Amino acid sequence: MSVQDRFLHYITFDTQSDPSSSSAPSTSKQLILAKELAGECEKLGLQASVDSYGIVYATLEASDETLPSLGFCAHMDTASELSGKDVKARIIKNYQGNTIRLNEEYSMSPKDYPALKDCIGDDLIVTDGTTLLGGDDKAGIAIIMQAVSDIIDQNLPHGRVQMAFTPDEEVGRGVENFDLDRFKVDYAYTVDGGKIDQIDYENFNAAQAVIRIEGKTIHPGYAKDKMINASLLASEFIQSMPKKQTPAHTEKRQGFYHLVTMQGSCEEALLTYILRHHDWHRFLKQKEFMKSQVEKMNAKYPGRFHLELHDQYYNMKQYMHGDMRCVHRARKAIRRAGLDPVSIATRGGTDGAMLTEKGLICPNLGTGTYHHHGRYEFASIQQMEKMVEIVKYIICTF
Ligand SMILES: [Zn+2]
Repeated sequence: MSVQDRFLHYITFDTQSDPSSSSAPSTSKQLILAKELAGECEKLGLQASVDSYGIVYATLEASDETLPSLGFCAHMDTASELSGKDVKARIIKNYQGNTIRLNEEYSMSPKDYPALKDCIGDDLIVTDGTTLLGGDDKAGIAIIMQAVSDIIDQNLPHGRVQMAFTPDEEVGRGVENFDLDRFKVDYAYTVDGGKIDQIDYENFNAAQAVIRIEGKTIHPGYAKDKMINASLLASEFIQSMPKKQTPAHTEKRQGFYHLVTMQGSCEEALLTYILRHHDWHRFLKQKEFMKSQVEKMNAKYPGRFHLELHDQYYNMKQYMHGDMRCVHRARKAIRRAGLDPVSIATRGGTDGAMLTEKGLICPNLGTGTYHHHGRYEFASIQQMEKMVEIVKYIICTF
């Protein structure tokens, strides 16, 4: 079996997670893929199981105890933005840089989707424009499974390898129930990125601010000097925030305040912001700034503004405490595969960030799939194959 076959098989499973559900996993359909994967691991001769939260754990025992024990994680669920049911994938052989027509309505050109330019000459897997593809992160699963299967077939020397396939990453609950006692490794990797020359170990520090604004409702005909319209206060608050520090005006290592939702009536309004910054001190400043903005509004409108601020996740780099063994190992493997390793400060979070905070260092590798979460998602078969090679080098060759 090839990584391509595995990938095409896994994307036939509808594994969309549900942000509104509080059960674990958030949707029971994710369990169908979980059981399939545990079964495949058992067929490879691995110890494998699915726990009650839907997490698949599998172990390949060491053939050479002197090699480090390593973990590999990928998530089974797909994003809520677009359905991942009845994915009808199509293969384009030897892509030549042209506009790809997905269906009557949707096309993608390298001008609008520049990742295509890096895939000229590759065989691509694309959608029919009605669903997402599921490369995020079934490509990660296919790559890990293929690498381990090859290592067994080719009898390559390896340390202990643990795999975990998790549900609900896309709804921010990927490692909520992750059992680190079942995953005893020196360090681990998520295989959940895009470009395959990347090894990423920096991500945002993240907090959420919910601001509740109390108004005072009175019949609008008799409201002079009495009514306090919570929606208008909310709008005043929004105007008081920095205009240029938003996702639409920032890139690279610049942080932002993002107004995620606003709801309002005269009686009450609710604003939800997320705060993001790679730099810890600037992140602290962002939170202080949010508090001071609310205080200013309360000085003008006493007792009307209520702030709830909570941290969501942190930049993994600060929890690595300078231990770069996992990054060096990956860089060596990427070089060995003929590529120049690159590290980018991710403008988001990863499951690995939360695992690193819990004590398991876990940077992120690429998958060779791009434009995740929508109909323009695509995979390069050659890049997935190369990624299998990289994972094998990480496990076997040092
Ligand atoms: Zn992902």
